[in-house]
Amino acid sequence: MNKGVPTGSWSAFFYVMRVTEVSAPCTAQISGRRNMRLPVVTGFNTRKETENMSEAINVAEIFGEDVFNDTVMLERLPKKVYKDLKKTIEEGKELDLATADVIAHEMKEWAIEKGATHYTHWFQPLTGVTAEKHDSFISAPLDNGKVLMSFSGKELIKGEPDASSFPSGGLRATFEARGYTAWDCTSPAFVRHDAAGATLCIPTAFCSYTGEALDQKTPLLRSMEVISEQALRLVRLFGNTTAKKVTPSVGAEQEYFLVDAEKFRLRKDLIYTGRTLFGAMPPKGQELDDHYFGTIRQRIAGFMKDTNEELWRVGVTAKTQHNEVAPAQHELAPIYAPANIAVDHNHLVMQTLKRVAGRHGMKCLLHEKPFAGVNGSGKHDNWSITTDDGRNLLEPGKTPHENIQFLLVLTCILKAVDEHADLLRESAADPGNDHRLGANEAPPAIISVFLGEQLEDVLQQLISTGEATHSLKGGKLETGVRTLPDLAKDATDRNRTSPFAFTGNKFEFRMVGSRDSVAGPNVVINTIVAEAFSEACDILEKADDFEMAVHDLIKQYAIEHHRIVFNGNGYAQAWVEEAARRGLPNISSMVEAIPALTTEKSVSMFERFNVFTRAELESRAEIKYENYSKAINIEARTMIDMASKQIIPAVIRYTKSLADTVVAVKEAGADMSVQAGLLTEVSGLLAETKKALEALILAADKASDMEEGKQQAEYCHSDVVPAMEALRKPVDELEMIVDKEAWPMPSYGDLIFEV
Ligand code: ADP
Ligand code: MG
Repeated sequence: MNKGVPTGSWSAFFYVMRVTEVSAPCTAQISGRRNMRLPVVTGFNTRKETENMSEAINVAEIFGEDVFNDTVMLERLPKKVYKDLKKTIEEGKELDLATADVIAHEMKEWAIEKGATHYTHWFQPLTGVTAEKHDSFISAPLDNGKVLMSFSGKELIKGEPDASSFPSGGLRATFEARGYTAWDCTSPAFVRHDAAGATLCIPTAFCSYTGEALDQKTPLLRSMEVISEQALRLVRLFGNTTAKKVTPSVGAEQEYFLVDAEKFRLRKDLIYTGRTLFGAMPPKGQELDDHYFGTIRQRIAGFMKDTNEELWRVGVTAKTQHNEVAPAQHELAPIYAPANIAVDHNHLVMQTLKRVAGRHGMKCLLHEKPFAGVNGSGKHDNWSITTDDGRNLLEPGKTPHENIQFLLVLTCILKAVDEHADLLRESAADPGNDHRLGANEAPPAIISVFLGEQLEDVLQQLISTGEATHSLKGGKLETGVRTLPDLAKDATDRNRTSPFAFTGNKFEFRMVGSRDSVAGPNVVINTIVAEAFSEACDILEKADDFEMAVHDLIKQYAIEHHRIVFNGNGYAQAWVEEAARRGLPNISSMVEAIPALTTEKSVSMFERFNVFTRAELESRAEIKYENYSKAINIEARTMIDMASKQIIPAVIRYTKSLADTVVAVKEAGADMSVQAGLLTEVSGLLAETKKALEALILAADKASDMEEGKQQAEYCHSDVVPAMEALRKPVDELEMIVDKEAWPMPSYGDLIFEV
């Protein structure tokens, strides 16, 4: 894995680039996204500014070079095969085995040219990370003792990993032990280079033999089909007869922390759990806001440069990077892509961040809350839906007719979010996110929709008069306008506190945890919006007077679901009270969120649209409870280990040296009251620590003795987590007063200010 630590400067890299418009090779990867232009870099000036400036690279040349993308397919596949595959990608037409054989052969030849020795079906089981099983291309030796490199259509389309070691939440017992992976040909294959050499990675879905989804991808692909179908019904009503497909697009902004690898290795909590379980706040925190968008330090810059390069090679459109709110916290955002590709790419982003950090002597922390008291990390899920003739349904149009369609889409989304707020909240639940949501840094745990001043005004007019006859522009009221304002250009108030914000031509779901897959949230958004579209179309398709019916329906939805709209400060206590008055759910923890998956409302919607069966939903709930208990158990055991083997022994040694000092100073006849006072204080906290440790051991043991499932998870939440907090408290106080030299691990200050 180690290619050696490159030295480099990111600012220098920018210095030599000139951004121009996209050229052919780059569009391949992003085909299907009309309206989108990918800036690439040409016109290089390799002049070096300083000695340690890094080599300039040609982004246009390297972008997508390790991807079996449209350009490669066009070049290498026979015309008929290429056409058939395109049909499969664009229209979901089934691929026959003969065609698959040709594709597999060409894909293998291409991969071998890139140095690949193995291929893998790359999939996303419910462990939260991706999984892969590698097979080399070699076939059985020939008579002459040599081997051939082979890869068949069957091997491309279907793999059979042993499903029994992946979470199935009881599906295994009910159904079949075996599982298979199936090629998602809408997400291109790529060659990954790492310590294992080069591997052809084939994005796949993972199912049981009887077809139950065992992964994140399968329901996502199903939900994409569902929203496409229902959105097509909707646009047909407005006269669009040409669109064949509607695609949800996703842009996932990724937050992360970087810490020094040497210091990381001295913290068992970071090693085992990804977050610090002890740690007092440093004298300086993020209060100065001097890190946010600040100049990127050289070490970080070098890391970002390598990360971008690796991502570009595998076709990930890494676009934006900046420092985040907390010290040592950063963000990377790609350009949005069709939802399934965006999900795959987000996994690649997370893996690449970790791998490249290793090469730079750092560790990338993707946990939602690595440091208590310091801003946590999330993932903003930007979502929009676009027809294949290039119309973003979340963009207000130029004509009143288009605006009516926009308002119908908008009010349908309000309805969807209002009716399924619990599901949306659940989709962002993971153990780490329990530390963020509602904790005054991330969105509150209450789901609401931010529309901004202009749209809110339009909505109010719809509610009171049934018609929007004027709109606010730049704070001034403009009456008589026939069209809606350009919301994208006039997104004045960004309102960072809203969990589900309309930002001009997309919604931004801001609750997702930084470590979590964005698949789950997008399955929910796609399906609930599809349901709302479907219900609206059921009514409108039957209407005698369409204009009148759509007008009434928009007004009805606006009135019925206005309670979900909130434009104020989501961090304020007043909002919590107001939301309760409005009857909006306030689900403060993962354990309380999980039941939303299996309510009758949820089961009937998901079953109706064939996104999940009841059994799949129940299995997912089961897996979530297990994952929660496992995460808490690991954290509790790690705390017990650290407290017993590192912290208590260190403090005992410290009290011994204090006691020796007290005796020595007393013998010398001087005042030892400070030393004696400190000894008393430290001893008191030590006793408190020991007591809390014993209580945590009891709670953790009790949890371990329980049967896996809901009750165990609830017990972990109600008893183990508070016992962990009770142990942390005296330890953090001790850290503040014990000699730094005596403390057995790097402090917060060491970790986040000295990267
Ligand atoms: P920020 O929210 O940090 O100000 P932007 O809103 O510009 O940044 O973009 C954040 C992400 O949203 C990016 O990944 C971007 O590609 C994505 N994005 C932009 N437009 C759309 C869209 N129409 N649909 C989905 N994602 C989008
Ligand atoms: Mg954003």
